[in-house]
Amino acid sequence: MITVTDATKDWGDFRALDGVSLDVPSGSLTALLGPSGSGKSTLLRAIAGLETLDSGRIEIGGVDVTDVPPQRRGIGFVFQHYAAFRHMTVRDNVGFGLSIRKVAKPTIHSRVDELLELVGLGGLQDRYPAQLSGGQRQRMALARALAIQPEVMLLDEPFGALDAKVRAELRDWLRHLHDEVHVTTILVTHDQEEALDVADHIAVLNHGRLEQVGNPTDLYDHPANSFVMGFLGSVS
Ligand code: ADP
Ligand code: MG
Repeated sequence: MITVTDATKDWGDFRALDGVSLDVPSGSLTALLGPSGSGKSTLLRAIAGLETLDSGRIEIGGVDVTDVPPQRRGIGFVFQHYAAFRHMTVRDNVGFGLSIRKVAKPTIHSRVDELLELVGLGGLQDRYPAQLSGGQRQRMALARALAIQPEVMLLDEPFGALDAKVRAELRDWLRHLHDEVHVTTILVTHDQEEALDVADHIAVLNHGRLEQVGNPTDLYDHPANSFVMGFLGSVS
């Protein structure tokens, strides 16, 4: 579904991505796992079209999108700190992507209400973002990303700012949500436990290089090298 071929990105003298090639299977929930600074966000932003690569190619659904602008890549994006529109209700926040696409109001209304049920925010459509908890806000962000019915969801440490209990809850819930909607999803995380728990595929990045890709059991039982072994081995 998503194919990255030989992606390279330099920030000045620093090579943030160093020849990354990655296949993300259709309908998978793939974790992009690696220590801080390993290039996870850079790779995710390149897939979204928010960064240009120095070399390499990105395909989504068999189409070369390397030179396609972000808004035409069919992607839903969720960041760690969700920039909600504070003066807009939950319903208008979630429906925003649809309203700028000129979808009819009643259609927006019913789709948003359906999505809010799906993410466990049913009945909260008239609240403002400040009246939601951190966890509820990230659920709203996911609903907003899903509203445009994206082919691909890209989540960059979406639960990183939440406390451990809420994070664990949302992790389970994301797994459940993914089983319902089957959108091809990449979850960026530096948290080994989160990746092993939630994802059906894991790609391990280190210093801008892809160390290993596989399912959680493969990685855990057969780490490709000492970095992967050490990194996964530090799970308590
Ligand atoms: P991760 O998400 O894995 O923590 P990033 O992809 O954000 O890593 O960053 C990888 C490296 O690239 C880091 O060393 C970071 O400082 C550097 N970097 C990221 N974005 C920029 C930027 N806009 N300008 C310069 N350096 C950057
Ligand atoms: Mg990052």
